[in-house]
Amino acid sequence: MDRFICVACGTQFADSDEPPASCPICSDPRQYIPEGGQRWTTSAELASERENQIRDEGDLVGIGTEPWFAIGQRALLVPFGDSNLLWDCISLLDDVTAQEVDRRGGLAGVAISHPHYYSSMVEWAHLFDCPIHLHAADAEWVMRPDAAIQHWDGERKELGHGLTLIRGGGHFPGGTILHRAEGAGALLTVDIIQVIPDRTHVAFMWSYPNMVPLPETAVQGIGAAVEPFDYEAIYGAWWGRLIPSDAKDVVRRSVERYRAALRGEL
Ligand SMILES: [Zn+2]
Ligand SMILES: [Zn+2]
Repeated sequence: MDRFICVACGTQFADSDEPPASCPICSDPRQYIPEGGQRWTTSAELASERENQIRDEGDLVGIGTEPWFAIGQRALLVPFGDSNLLWDCISLLDDVTAQEVDRRGGLAGVAISHPHYYSSMVEWAHLFDCPIHLHAADAEWVMRPDAAIQHWDGERKELGHGLTLIRGGGHFPGGTILHRAEGAGALLTVDIIQVIPDRTHVAFMWSYPNMVPLPETAVQGIGAAVEPFDYEAIYGAWWGRLIPSDAKDVVRRSVERYRAALRGEL
């Protein structure tokens, strides 16, 4: 028995004797099966070939795997009372990472934006004995069901200590953004509002690798979901993908740009 991990998206599956027949997350048209076909790995194999980097990322702390694995995102440790919330997740959780996270206050929860980053979430939740907050609209994409997963419904969930989960939708129906009220405020948006190379704008897409746009109503819906919140910064999904200031104007401007593009008015 093992818990196989999809090499293309990093998702860990429930116990099985043989690797799963396919990965539903990669077979979905928002992702893709690489040219070489479906491949699988395990936690032990990952730990033997890779390690995690833990370092400051803006006002937070990032955790990312080197060399690059699967989608290559880094998770973020967000202060949460005396402990931390793990925002988004990665597939590799080794002893060194666990000790370092413990030293920084451990985890009191895991919250994930959408299924592309579900990764090894259950491993993290078990080790730190904490819940995983996922939007119920994406429940069909959980490949390793577990009692630690707490699905939430509706448009917002207050986690306490100034942290709020906001349903933005778009890329996935339950696509979630985290708002942090501390200081000038920040949005942690990953693929729901994508930080792009031109930091004067952000992107809203149904599929990023396959470049499929969202309808205008969905883009406006994401803009409306975050409009009531105060924030200066936006954190994207990868190392260095962040807009440190004026991010609220960037989002407003970008919604308008998409609106014009989708109406043929650019
Ligand atoms: Zn996959
Ligand atoms: Zn995604």
